Amino acid sequence: MQFEYDDQNIFAKILRGEIPNNTVYENDHALAFHDIQPQAPVHVLVIPKGAYVSLDHFARDASAAEQAGFMQAVAEVCRITDVSDGFRAICNTRSHGVQDVPHYHMHIIGGKQLGRMLQA
Ligand code: 5GP
Repeated sequence: MQFEYDDQNIFAKILRGEIPNNTVYENDHALAFHDIQPQAPVHVLVIPKGAYVSLDHFARDASAAEQAGFMQAVAEVCRITDVSDGFRAICNTRSHGVQDVPHYHMHIIGGKQLGRMLQA
């Protein structure tokens, strides 16, 4: 599979500092910030700093250090937002997954009782 990255996507602009964000956590390889349209009391997006379009792109091509940095950011987001009662991690991917922003991101959603996983 060929992955083509569009560096004009909104998260690329956030990473370049062209658009502001409400940062929760940052390390060398990942940035986590509050979603602009939260679906729950906790709704944080974790993104890699590298140019990856999707979870499968990141899982295939990111280095071990990038992958470890990303997962460390996920752990820190869970700690900082205190989702000790649970949460949902979602990575919408391409057309069937209804992915809007073509830069890999993981939604961390929690802070309330969530509904069943899928409605469609
Ligand atoms: P997707 O549908 O691609 O999985 O989710 C993209 C998410 O990015 C949406 O939840 C949307 O609210 C969020 N989003 C889109 N533009 C911005 C933005 O400029 N700033 C922030 N913080 N979130 C955004």
